[in-house]
Amino acid sequence: MTSIRTLTSGACAVALASLCIFTAPAKAQTYPTRSITMIVPFAAGGPTDVVARIVTGHMAQTLGQSVIIENVVGAGGTTATTRAARAANDGYTLITGHMGTHAASVPLYPKLAYHPEKDFEPIALLAGTPILILARKDFPPKDLNEFVTYVKANAEKVNAAHAGVGSVSHVSCELLHSILDVKPVSVPFSGTGPAMNALVGGQVDYMCDQIVNAVPQINAGTIKAYAIATPQRNPSLPNVPTTAEAGLPKFQAQAWNAMFAPKGTSAAIVASLNAAASKALDDETVKKRLLELGSVIPTAAERTPEALATLVKNEIAKWTPVLKPAT
Ligand code: ASP
Repeated sequence: MTSIRTLTSGACAVALASLCIFTAPAKAQTYPTRSITMIVPFAAGGPTDVVARIVTGHMAQTLGQSVIIENVVGAGGTTATTRAARAANDGYTLITGHMGTHAASVPLYPKLAYHPEKDFEPIALLAGTPILILARKDFPPKDLNEFVTYVKANAEKVNAAHAGVGSVSHVSCELLHSILDVKPVSVPFSGTGPAMNALVGGQVDYMCDQIVNAVPQINAGTIKAYAIATPQRNPSLPNVPTTAEAGLPKFQAQAWNAMFAPKGTSAAIVASLNAAASKALDDETVKKRLLELGSVIPTAAERTPEALATLVKNEIAKWTPVLKPAT
């Protein structure tokens, strides 16, 4: 008797077509069959939101499905990251996290409901984001030296905006404040999109934040930038000095944004998302937009899931001793 396994495709077509279709192996390329939700753990218009929208806009074309951005705010990005960690690991709920949600949160939140290394599958690093010291345009200090003197002399009066405890803006200014040995008032927002609006409106004094949504405002003259906390100037802001040039070499800070899936998401899905993200980062239009906003585009070697896993591990190790004493 002829078994189903030994039927030729011709015989299959004639005799057992429906059974053959039923027994055909599932294809990896069936993912995705519907839209994907990308959780952004901060308000719309901030650096994380902007990077996620630029990259996923292109990924949607590659994947053949739309990627819907869902801004979920609260607790410095940890509310959204907890939700992403608990989401179904089927590739339809992802998160664009950053140095705060996936590293600094560990020492800052003793009861953090997720662990960045244990509860996520890293997909890809999307952008390196240098940190700038920014201020409202009429903040009195004219340069970084004056800023240091002014903030030290007026530490009880000045305030710094940020995106919640553990956010990049919070952690970066904490580092700055520890160097200056000051404790100014801090004003939390649901993301540095709204914090930037408050800075432009003059409702807050200064902020340390990722370059991405600062470049258009600096160029428009609606805020001022004292320095960029990286060893080199950024091509998108050639007139902004480095902290070393401006007199505060100890303040060095660079953040990043990256894409993660809940733990247990299949290797095939992670590989297809990684390939789509990497293709987006190679696209000329995507590259141009990210570079114009001052981002650093990861190299091919930096874009792998393994490289992101190592980055997360190293960043947790780097920030834990710096931030632990503050809790
Ligand atoms: N840049 C923000 C932070 O300080 C968050 C955001 O992207 O809005 O963590």
